[in-house]
Amino acid sequence: MPGATVVLLGVPWDASSSFQRGSAGAPPRIRAALHSPSSNTWNERGDDVAAPDLLRDAGDLELPDDPDAARAAIEAAVRTQIESGLVPLVLGGDHSITYPVVRGLGRRDRLTILHLDAHPDLYDEYDGDRYSHACPFARILEAGLAARLVQVGIRTLPPTLRATAAKFGVEIVPAARWREAIPLVAGLGAPLYVSLDLDVLEPMLAPGVSHPEPGGLTIRDVLDVLFAIRAPIAGADIVEYNPRNDVRDLTARVAAKFVKELVGVIVDRGTHPPFAR
Ligand code: MN
Ligand code: MN
Repeated sequence: MPGATVVLLGVPWDASSSFQRGSAGAPPRIRAALHSPSSNTWNERGDDVAAPDLLRDAGDLELPDDPDAARAAIEAAVRTQIESGLVPLVLGGDHSITYPVVRGLGRRDRLTILHLDAHPDLYDEYDGDRYSHACPFARILEAGLAARLVQVGIRTLPPTLRATAAKFGVEIVPAARWREAIPLVAGLGAPLYVSLDLDVLEPMLAPGVSHPEPGGLTIRDVLDVLFAIRAPIAGADIVEYNPRNDVRDLTARVAAKFVKELVGVIVDRGTHPPFAR
C-alpha cells in the first residue's frame, strides 16, 4: 500500500503576476503533457501515476476575479483535500498561490518549506501589491507558518531582500552552490512543503516562464534535490509555467515530469502522523 495518495489541484490564477499574464493557462497544458502518448505515466521509481491509489485529480478551481476571494477559495480547496486525507500537489498559476495553499494546510506543526526558484519572492510589497507573486514567502514568514525556509537556486537577491532573508533566518542556497542543497535537504524534517518555481531552471531548458533568469539548474539537478528529500511531504506546488512563452510544449513536459517524480517522492516518504487517515 502506498504511504500517501496525492491529488492534483489546478489553480488557474495569474492576476498577481507582475510582468506577464499567462500562467493561468498552465494546469490543462501540464495535464495534457502528463497524459501525452509521446511518453508514459511511469516515473523513475517505477510508480505508475495513472493508478488512482497514487494520484487523483481534483480538476481546476473556478476562481472569482477578486484577489481576496480567490485566495480564500484556494485556501478552502486545499483544506478540503487535506481533510480527505490526500496530499495536494498544486499546479499554478503564478507563485502568489503558494501563500493561500500553505494556509490551507492548516497545520498545528509549523512547516519546513523547500523552495526552488531563481528568485526569493520575499518582497514586502511589489507594485503596491502585498500578495504579488514576488511576495508569497514574506507573507508566509510574517504569518509564522514556516519553522524553516530553505531556498535553492536563487540568483537574484537585491539588498532589501537580503535583509528580509536575514531577519527571518531564511537559508539560501544560491544557484552557484546548488549542490550544497543535497545534504541540507536530506536533513529537513517533517512536515515538509515543496514549492517549485519552474524559473529555477536554466531558461533554455524551460522557456515557458514569465521571468527567465539565465544561470539556472538543469532538470536533473532539480530532480537530485527532490530525490534527496527524506521527510514526509505535506503538500507541494509547481508554479509559474507560462504556456504563452513556451516552445513546442517543452516546459509543459518538464512540469509533467516533475509531477510524476514528486508523486514518487511523496508516496515513498510516506505520511506525517497528523495526516494519517
Ligand atoms: Mn517564484
Ligand atoms: Mn521565480
